[in-house]
Amino acid sequence: MTRGIYFAGHNAIEEEPNMKIIMLGAPGAGKGTQAKKIAAKYNIPHIATGDIFRANLKEGTELGKKAKEYMDQGLLVPDELVVDIVVDRLKKLETGYVLDGFPRTIPQAEAHTAILKKVGKKMDYVLEINVPDENIIKRMSGRRVCLNCGASYHLEYNPPKTENVCDECGNELVLRIDDAAETVKKRLQIYHDQTQPLIDFYSGTGVLRTVDGTLEIEEVFQNIVKILGE
Ligand SMILES: [Zn+2]
Repeated sequence: MTRGIYFAGHNAIEEEPNMKIIMLGAPGAGKGTQAKKIAAKYNIPHIATGDIFRANLKEGTELGKKAKEYMDQGLLVPDELVVDIVVDRLKKLETGYVLDGFPRTIPQAEAHTAILKKVGKKMDYVLEINVPDENIIKRMSGRRVCLNCGASYHLEYNPPKTENVCDECGNELVLRIDDAAETVKKRLQIYHDQTQPLIDFYSGTGVLRTVDGTLEIEEVFQNIVKILGE
């Protein structure tokens, strides 16, 4: 199909840079990877909340200082402050965006929806990258890294030539604590507790699309493109 056919429709090409997308997906589901690919193809910025927080902390902005007070005490940054920090970044944008790591809670999602509504806008898509927990645990717990040179391997998908030895530098390979099955299970539980209400929230507004994240990275991306349009 030629691009021209889409031109008059709701997927008009000139509108694409305004597409607003939220990514949902468990840690290890490949959400960040897909968000980067979407950002590149549709020419919209990839807004990763982790990056915004780090930038605010590094630049010592008012918002960053406030967030730091909570983080220094080992407390969660409250929803209102998270919203302020993200909205501060979003309002500098003339385009759409692909949000990665926000919203995480219902109050955050409600605040974001209200802000968009105020300026007569709405989310276009909420993409859930769905990977069963068992697959994620298998993916993560098979990872091995070299602490000497930073090379990474996977016992099943990308094994080193010699068992437990780095191909690059000969150092011993280790399983990072973050990748250990018990740690991953805990993070997945937190993810499900937080995210299920968000999935319910967005499925009620008709923008939620679920993508099978167990496929190869390229296949997952092609399925996303089918949803978003060429
Ligand atoms: Zn190495």
